Amino acid sequence: MEFELWWLLALPITFALGWLASRLDLQQWRREGEIRRDAPVAYFRGLNFLLSEQQDKAIDAFIEAVTADPNTVDLHFALGNLFRRRGEYERAVRVHQNLLSRADLPAAERQRAQVALAQDFFKAGLLDRAESVYTALTTTPYQPEALAALLQIHERTKEWPRAIDIAGQLERLGAGSYGRQIAHYWCELALQHQQAGDLPAAQDALDRAMQAQPQAVRPWQLRAALAIQSHDPQRALDNLRHIAQIQPDFTALVALEMARLFQELGQSEEGRAWLITQLQGYPAIDLLDAVLQLENDASERYHLALGYLQTHQSLLAARRILDQASSPISPEPARLALAQALDGAMKSRQRYRCAACGFEARNYTWHCPACQGWETYPPRRTEELQLIAP
Ligand SMILES: [Zn+2]
Repeated sequence: MEFELWWLLALPITFALGWLASRLDLQQWRREGEIRRDAPVAYFRGLNFLLSEQQDKAIDAFIEAVTADPNTVDLHFALGNLFRRRGEYERAVRVHQNLLSRADLPAAERQRAQVALAQDFFKAGLLDRAESVYTALTTTPYQPEALAALLQIHERTKEWPRAIDIAGQLERLGAGSYGRQIAHYWCELALQHQQAGDLPAAQDALDRAMQAQPQAVRPWQLRAALAIQSHDPQRALDNLRHIAQIQPDFTALVALEMARLFQELGQSEEGRAWLITQLQGYPAIDLLDAVLQLENDASERYHLALGYLQTHQSLLAARRILDQASSPISPEPARLALAQALDGAMKSRQRYRCAACGFEARNYTWHCPACQGWETYPPRRTEELQLIAP
């Protein structure tokens, strides 16, 4: 909102400068006097509308001014940008195309107008038209900007080979490191091959992903998926186990799948031990779930969940305790651990919140220390605010 207002204020300034410049060239002024005389009138009318906060009328007046005085290139850009910001892409396109249609436009201004036009198309969702304008700009000084935009377009349209090519170009231009992105593009491509039933091509794409980003987790996960599709659970498991070596935090994401594979291969004992080691180093509820799945003994499952709850005060673990309903164990330790986990989770929900400014206080107060309002706190704690009748 503020930004838009800023733009509107920039308009008359730009225009005033342009008008002043044209006044200085008196020779030309006299020659084209017929056209020029109208421009300042439309201009001041626009300014007047602007000052009386009638933005739409102001814009109409400025458009009239642009038509009356076609030499105001900067006003074209200002108007075009304003339209784009307001979401009026059709008008923005028309302004920039109008500018590009001029034969006398200098090359630098022409490229600038092309960039603006490409942005209009992109924002309007006309990706193919944006793509062709940006492609034309890759041989101009706007190359890095054009390539970055093309990359976004290819991502949206899922044209992964082209995205890989563009990301490589950007990297060679010194625009930063694109290894992580390129690895994901190869993974997306592998998924496309997999869906089309071309497993060797998928495998090859995953190899390329690993080359692009040796620490990438996703290629290993997708390799496991390919192995499962080829009915090779052992190879799938080996691929998933490799994730613990490169980024152990991510083991949680594949833990349940691993538990299933351990079971399928008749390695539940070994699997449970391996997962418990991971759980100790990189605690995560999904690892706990995987361990619970491989544990047949009910009281052992209860102890595992309780141990996790006591160590991490996790509400998710508390929920797992409730799942172990038929536990033979005395409920007291579980009750304590549940209370602690709830206390942690309730911390922000038992404060009082100022209705005027949102400031939260632990104790009820009649005078808000943040906004200085009196009696702005409803007499309910935040969790119970909905209990107050409207
Ligand atoms: Zn307040």
